[in-house]
Amino acid sequence: MAGRLDGAVALVTGASSGIGEAAAEALAAEGASVAIAARRRDRLEALAERIGGRTLVLETDVTDQGQAQAAVERTVAELGRLDVVVNNAGVMLLGPIEGAPIEEWDRMVTLNVQGLLYVAHAALPHLLAAAEDSSRGVADLVNISSVAGRVARSGSGVYNLTKWGVNAFSESLRQEVTGRHVRVGIVEPGAVATELRDHLRDEIREQQAKRFEGMEPLESEDIAEAIVYMVTRPRRMAVNELLVRPTEQE
Ligand code: NDP
Repeated sequence: MAGRLDGAVALVTGASSGIGEAAAEALAAEGASVAIAARRRDRLEALAERIGGRTLVLETDVTDQGQAQAAVERTVAELGRLDVVVNNAGVMLLGPIEGAPIEEWDRMVTLNVQGLLYVAHAALPHLLAAAEDSSRGVADLVNISSVAGRVARSGSGVYNLTKWGVNAFSESLRQEVTGRHVRVGIVEPGAVATELRDHLRDEIREQQAKRFEGMEPLESEDIAEAIVYMVTRPRRMAVNELLVRPTEQE
């Protein structure tokens, strides 16, 4: 059966777990060749095996500008083009600002902001070229933000800052390139059942568990479906922003 992304090439960062992994599978199911980037090679290789087809494993730390650029360049060199980028790698280290371990702030800023910027910068020329050349006539940069990019909360200050930054950057870039048919969109998930909360300090993880007690979270596949929706719209239609919460999340 013909997929809606047959012939397209997608790069997904943070593809070794959670939303990125599900997005890579969903894009491949639509016929895209996928390049999957993250630091844990074993997880990427297992995913590549599951997907089969034209899949490129890219062991990459996107906080290193050289590695981020190399991941993009290898995608184009080995898979031939770049039509879709899902800029998804991210970390959420919640907690009060007062007395926070600065190292946690550094990890969020270097990954959620700088890593995302490095990938966007390296990918942009190729997305612009794909939008000009391809039979699709359009290319997509999907940046994964969060409800935390729209609603600030006590105990989430620096994560809020990074995701607010993602939203502002995305809207600015959208205006810059939309006339050339590169669609820049953001997806803002609410609570999704992934490894994201495993990195929290114990007491913060317990607080989070209490906050969401009894609530059915989203599955990674729900967000993957939202991403596929964005990148399979007709050329005339750009979904700029998708805010997706679990039904029970306030
Ligand atoms: P996961 O922790 O499951 O996935 C994070 C991914 O990022 C992993 O594949 C990890 O792989 C990768 N990663 C971490 N550091 C780096 C790095 N330096 N370079 C490359 N890849 C890296 O979390 P989610 O799937 O939940 O998170 C994905 C995105 O969704 C994030 O941007 C997050 O902020 C956002 N989000 C998630 C929500 C949720 O409730 N889960 C809600 C709102 C937004 P590896 O360790 O192998 O490098």
